Amino acid sequence: MARVAFIGLGNMGGGMAANLAKAGHEVRAFDLSAEALDKAERNGCLRSGSAPEAVADAEAVVTMLPAGKHVREVYESSVIGAAPASAILIDCSTIDVATAREEAEKAQAKGYAMVDAPVSGGIAAAEAGTLTFMVGGTEEAFARAEAFLAPMGKAVIHAGGPGSGQAAKICNNMLLGASMIATCETFVLAQKLGLDPQTFFDIASKASGQCWSMTSYCPVPGVGPETPADRDYEGGFAAALMLKDLRLAMEAARGADSYTPMGAQAEELYTRFAEGLGGAGKDFSGIIRMIDDSWKAPEGSGAEAPKVGAKF
Ligand code: NAD
Repeated sequence: MARVAFIGLGNMGGGMAANLAKAGHEVRAFDLSAEALDKAERNGCLRSGSAPEAVADAEAVVTMLPAGKHVREVYESSVIGAAPASAILIDCSTIDVATAREEAEKAQAKGYAMVDAPVSGGIAAAEAGTLTFMVGGTEEAFARAEAFLAPMGKAVIHAGGPGSGQAAKICNNMLLGASMIATCETFVLAQKLGLDPQTFFDIASKASGQCWSMTSYCPVPGVGPETPADRDYEGGFAAALMLKDLRLAMEAARGADSYTPMGAQAEELYTRFAEGLGGAGKDFSGIIRMIDDSWKAPEGSGAEAPKVGAKF
């Protein structure tokens, strides 16, 4: 078992670090939040006073931070040069492809192996150790990272060279965002045309319209397996995080000169829902309430009820 530094013990990192400790690793945890550190200690991690202290003699460094700027800051100020060059560096945050590639190059120039390893699966999967990791890096770096990622996930997949994990993550989530909106507007139309939602679900699930957003994560309450729709769109994958991923996808598309009209439309609609209508904290399938005009903006949010149907 190894000495693992874990930086970023929030909603996701907290559960992930606990699973590494449970697997027998000596996990040295650091976060800016004392509360997050208290919880990590209760879950079997060792508390570190700073990021450089956590990584000082680590064999692996795992980070789970909010965005690219945090990853850049932590790696450049506290990991590269502070951790032994023999340590494998594993960034699990969801960040832009360009920053992931730059940080991997900077690490490599100082003799480190580094992978980007963003995840699919939310807080429950982080706690249960059932995340899917999409990993970007050399074959050798992947082989070294895999052993540390395995106790935190159900699948660890090598996507390609540095940055490929982030590329796979944002492409997957662009597809998910667009397909969720397509599912929502389809069910709203089906009901307006007089179809019973369960009957339409049964038909489309066995026809060519079948997709994960419908069969596994139906946005209509009471239809299909239990989903956040059955809990007033609480829990699940927040619309704010879907919007974050769509923005990363659009940034990548611009950089790669790739035409993504559905992704762009999904970004616009999630901006309207999450930021214009106060839906940021709701599950991303809650966007159906904007599409069917039944959204009630949270009290005190200053957001107005939408009347989108007429506009499209
Ligand atoms: P979070 O905000 O709950 O946790 C981030 C943690 O990083 C916080 O505890 C914060 O204090 C800490 N942090 C920030 N800057 C730091 C620094 N300089 N040094 C040390 N700690 C620092 O976020 P989260 O929900 O855990 O998400 C983390 C990443 O995982 C994001 O990139 C997110 O997009 C991605 N992700 C989240 C989910 C989800 O369902 N929450 C799902 C898939 C991927």
